[in-house]
Amino acid sequence: MSKKIGVVGAGTAGLHLGLYLRQHDVEVTIYTDRKPDAYRGMRLLNTVAHHGVTLARETALGVNHWPGQKFGYHGHYYFIGVQPQPLEFYGALHAPSRAIDYRIYQPRLMEDFLDRGGRIEYRDIRADEVSAISAQYDATVVCTGKGPFGQMFAHEPAHSPFDRPQRALCVGLFKGIGERAIRAVTMNFSPGAGEMIEIPTWTFNGLATALVIENIPGGDLDVLAKTKYEDDPKAFLKLLLDKLRKHYPTCAERIDEREFDLANGPLDILQGGVTPTVRKSHVVLENGRLAIALGDVQAVVDPVLGQGANMASYAAWILGEEMVRHDVYDERFIEHVNIRRQDRVLGATRWTNFMLTSLKAMPVELQQFIGALYQNRALADEFTDNFNFPERQWDCFASRERMAAWVGSRLQAVQRRPIAVAA
Ligand SMILES: Cc1cc2nc3c(=O)[nH]c(=O)nc-3n(C[C@H](O)[C@H](O)[C@H](O)COP(=O)(O)OP(=O)(O)OC[C@H]3O[C@@H](n4cnc5c(N)ncnc54)[C@H](O)[C@@H]3O)c2cc1C
Repeated sequence: MSKKIGVVGAGTAGLHLGLYLRQHDVEVTIYTDRKPDAYRGMRLLNTVAHHGVTLARETALGVNHWPGQKFGYHGHYYFIGVQPQPLEFYGALHAPSRAIDYRIYQPRLMEDFLDRGGRIEYRDIRADEVSAISAQYDATVVCTGKGPFGQMFAHEPAHSPFDRPQRALCVGLFKGIGERAIRAVTMNFSPGAGEMIEIPTWTFNGLATALVIENIPGGDLDVLAKTKYEDDPKAFLKLLLDKLRKHYPTCAERIDEREFDLANGPLDILQGGVTPTVRKSHVVLENGRLAIALGDVQAVVDPVLGQGANMASYAAWILGEEMVRHDVYDERFIEHVNIRRQDRVLGATRWTNFMLTSLKAMPVELQQFIGALYQNRALADEFTDNFNFPERQWDCFASRERMAAWVGSRLQAVQRRPIAVAA
């Protein structure tokens, strides 16, 4: 008998799960509040980069419409500090990462899902409807954390150390920022003020630069999250340029002021904050069926390290595999899913939370770690590529001893390597 799965939400979590299940002939209905043609006129949803591991899943799902070789970027530039000169180094990725405006990406994958026999019901679901919906399916997966949907799943205090956003965000898609020698993300750190990630992003008008400006509340850059572009675009752009010159000068110097503006118009900016939160992975509904949390509703992280959608995609794949493998969706089923997904999900949340705290004050051990990356390209490459594998980053950052051991073992390996002698 064919399995039937209901999914609430057509973000990356719901779509990657739905596409995986359709590849395995599982009947899937996605409930979502937006039709594909609604995305074109929406405000910027986020500025998401998918890492190589996520692109590989998209290829396996047959939805990699923007291959990394053409649309991707190849590494990270890092600029740390401002005075007298930022510390600068570069790390390469093993395979390109890629950023597509989600107002293009998500409707395209919805079409793919429909083409493969998936069903989509377009309506605004209320959280208290999930129980009734679940009666039609073997299991129901909740992939939206908005409002009461989040409250369906118990908060996990052990993994949720914050009760408020740790950064005041000002995120926009801009034109008029020149590229560097290699197409890459640039991560800028201004200790005490915040961080800024520049991401080459494909949007409606072609390639633009996403600026993810992460501002420490109360700090010098906080004003960027509070000043509205719509009120006075010129004044906003002037304020932004002034702050970039002061805190992120290597970005400011690549800006052509005549062109610098939001890439597609006034909807290309997003301001606010994310409270990093982990919730229980499931709830047993009144009718005894499971509602399973997937994506941001289970674990939402600050975007500073670009992990949320990548871990949502990973968790969707694991859940899909386990749904195909099992016939009974009960608490034991959830144990199987959790054992497989939690190292990456918790790795991403812990590493991101650690960085949010540490980047504010740059403790000595983090400074030493950064110094080692600066001096050794192989270390910078490994650290950069591990954005694909947040559990490996957490293996490195979970304690002071681990950070020192990570650097030590790699430097020893470099020293042990035989010296090539010219023939
Ligand atoms: C500024 C910013 C930058 C980011 N950068 C990155 C990055 O570089 N890399 C990365 O991996 N992650 C990044 N993220 C995180 C990423 O955006 C999220 O983790 C990811 O999109 C979550 O996907 P999701 O499917 O869980 O939820 P969502 O994308 O939120 O999807 C929810 C879905 O539910 C639907 N829905 C909502 N309410 C209802 C309702 N009542 N009834 C029916 N349907 C409903 C919505 O229409 C949508 O389809 C960033 C986030 C932000 C804010």
